[in-house]
Amino acid sequence: MIAITNLSKIYQIGDETVHALDHASLHVSEGEFVSIIGPSGSGKSTFLRCLNLLEMPTAGSVVFEGTDITDPHVNINKHRQRMGMVFVKPVLFSHLNIIENVMIGMMDLKGMNKENAYEKARTLLAKVGIADKAEAYPEQLSAGKKQLATIARAFSLDPEVLLLDEPTTNVDPIMKGGVETLIKDYAKLGNTVVIVSHEKELLNSVCDRIIYMKAGRIIEEGPKEKMINCPEHAEVKEFLELLLTS
Ligand code: ADP
Ligand code: MG
Repeated sequence: MIAITNLSKIYQIGDETVHALDHASLHVSEGEFVSIIGPSGSGKSTFLRCLNLLEMPTAGSVVFEGTDITDPHVNINKHRQRMGMVFVKPVLFSHLNIIENVMIGMMDLKGMNKENAYEKARTLLAKVGIADKAEAYPEQLSAGKKQLATIARAFSLDPEVLLLDEPTTNVDPIMKGGVETLIKDYAKLGNTVVIVSHEKELLNSVCDRIIYMKAGRIIEEGPKEKMINCPEHAEVKEFLELLLTS
C-alpha cells in the first residue's frame, strides 16, 4: 500500500547539517499496524511528516497505492484525505468550537451534510471522552483535551491510512483508554495504521510490526514477536524490555 524508499531529510541549521531521516525504507501493507519506536530525536516524527509531505523529503520516494506522491505534479491534498494524521501538538481552528472543529472536515472534504456531521462528531467526542467540551473553544481546553479533539477529527474522515505521532502523549492516563479503544477498533476494521508510540497497551495488542529508529535510520524492523523476543540488536531488546516492563 505504501512503499517508502531511501527517504531522507536533511536540515541545515547554520553550519550544522542534521540528518533527521537517513535513507529510511519501508513497505506498509494494507491493514497493517506498524509501530515506530526509538529514542527521542531519532527521526520518528520527521519520518511520519515526510510520509504525507508535511515535510518535503530531501531525497527518496513515497509510493502510495502506485502513485509517487513526492512527484511535484501529484495533487497531494487528494492523498492526504486518504491518509489522516494526528500530531503531538494539536492543531485546531481557534475561532471554531470543538464540535465545529471536528465537523468541518466531514463537511468540506467529504461533502457530508451538517446534521450527519454533527451526529458523527458527537459520537466521536463521546468515544474519546470529551462530549462535555463540544461547545467549548480550543483555548479553554487543556493540552490533553485538545489532543483528544484532534484525534476525533482525524477519525471523522475515515482515512484508509492513519498516521499517528504520539497520540496519547499529553493525554491524562484515565482518558487514554478511550483513545486506545478507538485506535484498536479502527485497526480491527482492516485499516492501516502507522503510529509513533511507546504505549504498552497498543504494542501488546493490535501492533503487527515494530520499527526501531535511531539517528534517522531504521536500525531494525520486523514482526512484533520477533522484535520483542529475539531482535538482532541488543539495544532493541533493551529498549523494548524497558518499555514493556515499565
Ligand atoms: P523524534 O520524533 O524521534 O523525537 P524528530 O523527527 O522530531 O525525532 O527529530 C529528528 C532530528 O531532526 C532531531 O535531531 C531534531 O532536532 C531534528 N529536527 C526535527 N525537525 C526539525 C526542524 N524543523 N528543523 C531543524 N531540525 C529539526
Ligand atoms: Mg517526535
